[in-house]
Amino acid sequence: MEMPDYGQPAPPFQPGYPMNPALPPGPPYPPAMNPAVAPGYYPSVNTNALAPQVAPYPQFNGIPGYEGLAGGDGNDGKFLPPPPPFGTGPDNVPAPTNRDWQIPSINNETAKQALLDYANGQCCYGSSPAEEMEITQLRPFNTYRYRLETFTESRSCESVTRPLTEGALDSPDKGPAPQPWEIQVKNPTLFHDETLKLPVPHTTSKKSCQECNGKGKIICQKCNGNSRVKCDDCNGSGKRANEECMHCNGTGSMGCQTCNQTNVQMCPGCKGKGQVMTFIELTVTWKNNVYEFIPDHHSDFPTEHFKKVTGEKIYGDEQLLVPPIINFPEPSINQNSQTAVQQHYSKFISSARILKQKQTIELLPLTKVEYSWRGKSCSYFVYGRENKVETKDYPSTCCCVIL
Ligand SMILES: [Zn+2]
Ligand SMILES: [Zn+2]
Ligand SMILES: [Zn+2]
Repeated sequence: MEMPDYGQPAPPFQPGYPMNPALPPGPPYPPAMNPAVAPGYYPSVNTNALAPQVAPYPQFNGIPGYEGLAGGDGNDGKFLPPPPPFGTGPDNVPAPTNRDWQIPSINNETAKQALLDYANGQCCYGSSPAEEMEITQLRPFNTYRYRLETFTESRSCESVTRPLTEGALDSPDKGPAPQPWEIQVKNPTLFHDETLKLPVPHTTSKKSCQECNGKGKIICQKCNGNSRVKCDDCNGSGKRANEECMHCNGTGSMGCQTCNQTNVQMCPGCKGKGQVMTFIELTVTWKNNVYEFIPDHHSDFPTEHFKKVTGEKIYGDEQLLVPPIINFPEPSINQNSQTAVQQHYSKFISSARILKQKQTIELLPLTKVEYSWRGKSCSYFVYGRENKVETKDYPSTCCCVIL
């Protein structure tokens, strides 16, 4: 069998190869193996404690690596720790570098235009204040949005039962079943959530259907084997408006149309064949895990409004593992970057495979504009790259027109 390119060879197949001891996550990385990386930001992970211990069930004992799965249907979804990671150690993390950070801001014209656009977009707002106002002060409260995205793949499997399909079964005598992390799947779209289910090769076997005891038929679920069902028109009373129900001739019941009064129906579990197939189904889950942080901007602007806008991207880093940011001018970004990198690493390294990380900082423009209009002092916020406006005291609305 062709081995997938995981950077290091998967263990060779051996009959009786037990899954859990064979596929524990890699050892924790000693901090500061690379002196260029800030020491101590890789927490130690006791991976032995995370590897589940599962007693073997009888059903899939014949399939090496899948001994822990019970037979038949059931949600015995199984956590499958990935094999030792490939290149996910501090050695592979570039050192953080010093950068010059350029922080832009808005001017009077932009501020005025933003308010004008805003007023024109509101049905009950007059545009006079925006046209005639005198800006008295622009106060920047620019802040940032820090984001760490960790794109992971995890795998689990469970035994499933399905109606038989045409063609030969991919049974264990066709060859050894590949281990969960050896199974090649398509390349995922980075940073997008997706789930893929597929049968593990060479794990399919036939058995008698338990739902119908191999008969292919079950008692009719509509009439419970009584041939007759309650009349819908009269709700079983035999009468409508004190007259005999025409639909059921006053009997209150009708012949069952689901089974045509044979009292049985085709078994849905085996589609009438009496036999089903069971196999191990692998579930591959790709997930983008996002950590987001916006520092305090020391203004009364509601932070949740930032969800509606984009910022100026001032930093972006995408690689297998990103290093924490260490010298950004806003110290809380550095602290949160370090925390986020640590948390994502210790959270995902033992339970999933980290495929890629992305770290971004956006400048979120936020300016408080103070202005006067016809002797009144008012203010508004201009925020986001879209120059959206947030105002509470716009002096010309239909409810309080001053014109
Ligand atoms: Zn009736
Ligand atoms: Zn029936
Ligand atoms: Zn059946």
